[in-house]
Amino acid sequence: MSQVVTRFAPSPTGYLHIGGARTALFSWAYAQSKGGKMLLRIEDTDRERSTEAAVVALVDGLKWLGLDWDGEPISQFGRAARHAEVAHELVKLGHAYYCYCSPAELDQMREEARAAGKPPRYNGYWRDRDPSEAPEGIAPVVRIKAPLTGDIVVDDHVQGKVVFKTENLDDFIILRSDGTPTYMHAVVVDDHDMGVTHIIRGDDHLTNAARQIVIYNAMGWTVPEMAHIPLIHGPDGAKLSKRHGALGVEAYRQMGYLPEALRNYLARLGWSHGDDEIFSTEQMVEWFSLEGLNKGAARFDFVKLENINGHY
Ligand code: GLU
Repeated sequence: MSQVVTRFAPSPTGYLHIGGARTALFSWAYAQSKGGKMLLRIEDTDRERSTEAAVVALVDGLKWLGLDWDGEPISQFGRAARHAEVAHELVKLGHAYYCYCSPAELDQMREEARAAGKPPRYNGYWRDRDPSEAPEGIAPVVRIKAPLTGDIVVDDHVQGKVVFKTENLDDFIILRSDGTPTYMHAVVVDDHDMGVTHIIRGDDHLTNAARQIVIYNAMGWTVPEMAHIPLIHGPDGAKLSKRHGALGVEAYRQMGYLPEALRNYLARLGWSHGDDEIFSTEQMVEWFSLEGLNKGAARFDFVKLENINGHY
């Protein structure tokens, strides 16, 4: 088997969140356990929300936690030309097409779908149309041809085989009219080009995975192995939020928690090794496997974190 390559791909829109740190830890531990590499990709394609301060905070947080990556961090925005190139290649291959619909036409399309009791989606208007019919002066978007039959199956290490019906997929946009890629497309091109073999990330990306597989298949690229981990919940079972307590790794650092204690605690959030509670990072790496990742949501338990910290 080729060398394992994982990646952590945060969007630089804030501090390093506990959930992000756990994703990074699992990606790191898996790569370490296989003698592979973890790469760091800064997903700064959204120019409005990305900030340089957030990049610094992410890098600092990872360094403090001792989660090192291989090579230089990669800026997704810096790869925009490559994303566009692949989108145009997909058009040439006949797997994508230029769509010239105006916002008003798209609105009307959605209205008609709603009126017919269907989900408000793009109806494939330009899918098989001759581009010579294109109106003048409209910069097109590029849409991928979603398969019309069959299912898309995400064969996931945590969630099992998750089936998405193709009737629920529309011809989604991969390149905007200003030539910038959508998030969905950029992630696939980057993971492929970076040689990523295993994607470990939050299960809020599971439906994206189905769309991303459409792009992999269209390019004839190998789909990486995937592990979508359940989000972290608060002690009350609701999605972890500020009202439960501090969410940023930096806040724990300032409160005096030790990085090895936080690593130990984060490892226990969604991964288990028997009843073991306290273990070193070396032990975690030795024991880590994707099969040990839990399917149920993990609950953040401040008392347990405090206890674990007390052991270090
Ligand atoms: N940038 C995404 C996020 O921060 C992660 C994308 C991915 O892992 O594919 O949620």
